[in-house]
Amino acid sequence: MQKKVVILGGGESGTGAAILAKSKGFDVFLSDKGQLHQKYIDVLTDQNIAFEQGQHSENAILECDLVIKSPGIPDTVPLIVALKKRGVQIISEIEFASRYTNAKLIAITGSNGKTTTTLLTYHLLKNAGVNVGLAGNIGESFAWQVAEKEFDHYVLEISSFQLDNIIDFHPSVSVILNITPDHLDRYGYDFQNYIDSKFNIIRNQTAEDYLIYFEDSPEILAEFEKRKPAVSMIGISLNQSLKEGAYLENGKLVVKIEGKSFEQDFSELPIKGPHNAVNAMAAISVAKLVGLSDEKISEGLISFKNAPHRLEIVEVIQGVTYVNDSKATNVDSVFYALGSFEKGVILIAGGVDKGNDYSQIEELVRNKVKGLIVLGKSVDKLRDYFSNIVPQIYTTQDIQDAVNKGKEWSEPEDIVLLSPACASFDLFQNYEDRGDKFKAAVRNLISHP
Ligand code: ADP
Repeated sequence: MQKKVVILGGGESGTGAAILAKSKGFDVFLSDKGQLHQKYIDVLTDQNIAFEQGQHSENAILECDLVIKSPGIPDTVPLIVALKKRGVQIISEIEFASRYTNAKLIAITGSNGKTTTTLLTYHLLKNAGVNVGLAGNIGESFAWQVAEKEFDHYVLEISSFQLDNIIDFHPSVSVILNITPDHLDRYGYDFQNYIDSKFNIIRNQTAEDYLIYFEDSPEILAEFEKRKPAVSMIGISLNQSLKEGAYLENGKLVVKIEGKSFEQDFSELPIKGPHNAVNAMAAISVAKLVGLSDEKISEGLISFKNAPHRLEIVEVIQGVTYVNDSKATNVDSVFYALGSFEKGVILIAGGVDKGNDYSQIEELVRNKVKGLIVLGKSVDKLRDYFSNIVPQIYTTQDIQDAVNKGKEWSEPEDIVLLSPACASFDLFQNYEDRGDKFKAAVRNLISHP
């Protein structure tokens, strides 16, 4: 009999999983409580895949052998609880897709830096002529590509939600960039649960495989003490030189792996700031493990173009630099954003607070921020926290008003930085929309000075 698979959530990953499952001979049913995008309805209809939207038909769903769950659905919803009670296996699309490919998997996780590092790693490999796919949280879904393409390697951006539901997923190289509090609302407000989820990335790795990790993170080192992982490890540090591993020394990225050494002036790279040195060293380490030449690695590092909304310089107007870091949706990313500039920052922050603890950035804000503009829903918490720390605070619900205030407060050489530390769903559709509206507001300063 055909095995019955139910796919919960019909976005990019759910639809991709449906296509792969269908091609592997499963009886497939896709169910989405919201409305499906027309593009996915067309694909599902075209491929003769049964689906529903606007509801979950519980009886039909509970009857299945396997569930592929969208990372957006928490484990606590009644349907998932009921499925678990019946002993139905619940997996992520990443787990499902990995069962049907022999490609070598490079899996990148962390609280911050995943997209940048994934894109850079992919760019290095692709530029060197490797037959490589890009998937995970980025672009076309992993399952969809496994169904339709043949790659030797995949570079995968992996979130903690995807790692929650893996069983046999086995990367040959994994990367843990950092683990700092984020998404605690989905982890019972227990940081350890979130750490455990991230460490799922190495659960099937053996001594033949590699883990590239951030050596300066006490959270990561504490886990090694507990877990004593079998995987071969390569550390990355901003503070100390390592015999084996990667580090920053006198402005140079140094990577030493298996007796071979690679060096590159960090200032030649288009990405800046200490966090991006970490991301670059992670990507270089992967490239070395895949066997790329030094020449190709350097070439790729220099020609890389990062995705927008990550410390993106929008304009320099009357000597003031406007920077869009809308993707900074947690406190740690603001920490690194502030670390990338000298004094004279006017910080625009705020939005939906996910249980933030601002103590991590208190010192940096005190030393570098000359004005704080609080935008959006979580205004009270941010304003109260920094009221005695920054000289001036302004509150608004309007991005143009925020940018205008930034202009008023700034002098030549200053930075007006949108780095919100919060999610964007109060005033905007998503972080991209927030960043785009910020950029438009900045450009309005030129047309309406
Ligand atoms: P992710 O995909 O994990 O959200 P991004 O590459 O999109 O990561 O970057 C998200 C935010 O975090 C940006 O504001 C960026 O400047 C910041 N960031 C990038 N890399 C790091 C890092 N290694 N450590 C801390 N913050 C980082």
